[in-house]
Amino acid sequence: MRASIFPTLLAFTTSTAFTAASDVSSTTWSDWDEMQSNLFESVKVVGAGHSFSAITLTDEKADEAGKSLLLNLDNYTGIISCDEPSDEGEVETTNCYVRAGTRLRDLNDMLESRGLAFINLGATAAQSVAGAISTSTHGTGREIGSISTAVRGLKIVDSNGDVITADSNENVDVYTHARTSMGAFGVIMEVTLNVVPIWKMKRTIFDMPLETLISNHDDLYKKYSRFQWSYIPYADPPTASVMIREDVDWDTSGVGCWDSTANVHVEAKLLDGSGGDAVQVDSSVCVDVSYKVLVDSYDRYLNRSLYTEMEMFVDVKHTIDVLKDFLAFQESVKDEHSESASLFCNMRYVAADDIPTSMMFRERCGGFFVHYDGGSDYDGRSGRVRALRQRVGGDRERVDPNGLFLNDYLRERIIKK
Ligand SMILES: Cc1cc2nc3c(=O)[nH]c(=O)nc-3n(C[C@H](O)[C@H](O)[C@H](O)COP(=O)(O)OP(=O)(O)OC[C@H]3O[C@@H](n4cnc5c(N)ncnc54)[C@H](O)[C@@H]3O)c2cc1C
Repeated sequence: MRASIFPTLLAFTTSTAFTAASDVSSTTWSDWDEMQSNLFESVKVVGAGHSFSAITLTDEKADEAGKSLLLNLDNYTGIISCDEPSDEGEVETTNCYVRAGTRLRDLNDMLESRGLAFINLGATAAQSVAGAISTSTHGTGREIGSISTAVRGLKIVDSNGDVITADSNENVDVYTHARTSMGAFGVIMEVTLNVVPIWKMKRTIFDMPLETLISNHDDLYKKYSRFQWSYIPYADPPTASVMIREDVDWDTSGVGCWDSTANVHVEAKLLDGSGGDAVQVDSSVCVDVSYKVLVDSYDRYLNRSLYTEMEMFVDVKHTIDVLKDFLAFQESVKDEHSESASLFCNMRYVAADDIPTSMMFRERCGGFFVHYDGGSDYDGRSGRVRALRQRVGGDRERVDPNGLFLNDYLRERIIKK
């Protein structure tokens, strides 16, 4: 099938330089063939542009030759339909067919109005559906995979302009890899997402000395399936902020997680009965529907300062070794640290998956990220796509024989041996 209907909804921008706004023009094409009559040599899709690396950028050489194209699907949004619920394992789940440009924040609302929700989300919901799955966006969850693991099917426009349906029955190799597509498998136009009935959770945040976290880490990890922690490098005394999310009954009440008072501290006792020492801590507690416990509110998102982030994924059993190594590194560069630089380190846990292009392929991971306030020229060199080299199967070339959807960032990581 040719992609003749879909591109009428695509707005795109030709760019000679992604960051040079004055060089950018915007057009909406009505036909893939008409678009490709321009003989573009580099076509990339940008979702919400929230990736910290150069993964969305068009190829520099094609930019210079005026032969690059940056597509955006902001006009192609919404839920097309949802199936009746069915049992997948022990849980009742539902498949929803979603247009790829839909922002997760809007999708959360749309799902809630149908009594549905994502099983997990990242820290914010500003991303597009296609962008979020294309980089294995994840939250924390010992037994829960990234958002890519919720994908049950994809509709993709390949570099020929043909629409490919990819799922566990059809174009299986494309489906297997393109759930975390990195933008290298064509233009994702629709995503089938597996979602669950909306439920309620309680979120508890409390501080403890970093040393206490180190000695209690394994108990916390075992006890709480949605556990994460963070610390601010060079803070004195070294302190960990621990966040726990637990399922609660639907009629549980409490301060809502998007309420301004959600960070008020109450006293609570944690770590009891799991083999760890009981620790009395001040904590902030809120209760809400699942997605509001998982992601920030729009107001909070708008109040975020610009920051840059680099995330590493390690086998979960090395979590504390990584922290200790990083603390040693931190100490070794202490003299170079400027007090005005705002740093933040965070560890979240993600279940292993079966997606060869994912950071969690066959390995339950701790994702340790370092973020610092401000923009940068950081190119994501050590970023999340690093581990992917050689895991991209031959079907990428079938979808994109001439490398139309590659860029320098991807070539370095998935092509160069
Ligand atoms: C404030 C903030 C909070 C974040 N929180 C988290 C978090 O908690 N957990 C986490 O894992 N990550 C997090 N991230 C990272 C973010 O989730 C990912 O970078 C995600 O890919 C961004 O989605 P996007 O829609 O902006 O995609 P983009 O950054 O625009 O694109 C990402 C990739 O998807 C491709 N792509 C986009 N749309 C399509 C399409 N239709 N077809 C084919 N390819 C496409 C692009 O080409 C690119 O390769 C955060 C980022 C920010 C800025």
